[in-house]
Amino acid sequence: MATQFFPLIPQGLGTEDIEALDSYVLRLATEHGVSECQFHRLLAWWWNHAKADGQHSLGRHVTYVSKIGYGKDVDTLVQALESGTGILGLSSLTLAAFRDVCGVHVGSFGRSVHYWCPACLREQMQQGLPIYEKLAWRLKAISRCTTHQIALESSCPWCKRNQLRHVDTWPQCSDCGKSLLSREHLWRPALHPSDGETDVLEIIKYCADHPGAVFDRDAARKFWKLMREDKVLGCHPGYEYFHQRPDPTRTLISVLLRFAREFNIPLLSILLNPKQAAAIRPLLPSEPAPDRRVHRNKRMTVSLRKELESALKRYVETGSACKSLKKLCEPYPCTASAVRCWFPNLVRAVADHNRELRRSISEKHKQSLEQLNLDLGLVLKADEVGWHRVESDLSAQYHVPLHRVRKRLSVLKKGAGSLE
Ligand SMILES: [Zn+2]
Ligand SMILES: [Zn+2]
Repeated sequence: MATQFFPLIPQGLGTEDIEALDSYVLRLATEHGVSECQFHRLLAWWWNHAKADGQHSLGRHVTYVSKIGYGKDVDTLVQALESGTGILGLSSLTLAAFRDVCGVHVGSFGRSVHYWCPACLREQMQQGLPIYEKLAWRLKAISRCTTHQIALESSCPWCKRNQLRHVDTWPQCSDCGKSLLSREHLWRPALHPSDGETDVLEIIKYCADHPGAVFDRDAARKFWKLMREDKVLGCHPGYEYFHQRPDPTRTLISVLLRFAREFNIPLLSILLNPKQAAAIRPLLPSEPAPDRRVHRNKRMTVSLRKELESALKRYVETGSACKSLKKLCEPYPCTASAVRCWFPNLVRAVADHNRELRRSISEKHKQSLEQLNLDLGLVLKADEVGWHRVESDLSAQYHVPLHRVRKRLSVLKKGAGSLE
């Protein structure tokens, strides 16, 4: 059947590598030989004439709407795209499955700046596949590529600018026009998952597999209720995740992720079947809540207070390693704020002393780095083993933190970039 627009197939269908909706729209626009903005205008014009009576009309401003979540604009856009291209299930290119669980602020979970995995982009280019942006890259919880185990990048390797809007030049920089593909030795390895990464990827995969699925609004609340009734978990810290109001309120994805982590149960199973998810937990041995109050039955006596005072004085006079007030109070059964109340002058002296210590350490770092010669030898070595190796070697050699070495070498790196 002939369709109004080209029946372009989204990339990564049914997998966790599924394409993001804005990337799909951009590719569709490029296929039609127009810019994204022009395409939206075209689509809106066609949809507003072709739609049925009960359906919403599409505004041109949808170009500027975040296409990660849901809401009237995105829903209408998906509807228009589906009937225009004949491709169904486009809602799985967004987080529309959360529409009942979370408020429209699912957008705050997404990024405004574009991120990408350079290795994935290179693969797509080499294999002659369409170059697209994954839905996972648009989400704040994802900071690395799990396939290539490297950190995502967000700035042009040449002009260092962020890519704010996805323009038709992708994957070229929207500012300087050079390729966003950085050289391989600059890729930063990232072997460990960040908090919530597995949960988010699982959910993306599920949604990609089940287009149109919508999570149950009360699932997380049901799970929470079941867990609270469980006597075994009496020792669990009683954090409140949900507002207790007569009408259930909607929550945030970030809260749900924290919630799942607290119980060490995959968020997807909580959302799909809270009863089953709650049943998993009692099988695990219940770990007692960590006891943060070491000084449970101790009292701050007068002699202890005097001891603390002299310890603080000693630190101000002779302390050579920087210690915070909290650290200094740790051996005593009192809080830092209580100490601030008891000895205001002494606490001020501690703060001054710390500032002085930090300044002298920073001065020392600067001086030792000044001995470093910025010559061509370093550039040649970096070409051989990569900048990150050179930086960590120098950091160990001069006993200086990595960020200072990076700053010192930045002039050299810029020069090396412009030589090519
Ligand atoms: Zn990758
Ligand atoms: Zn650039």
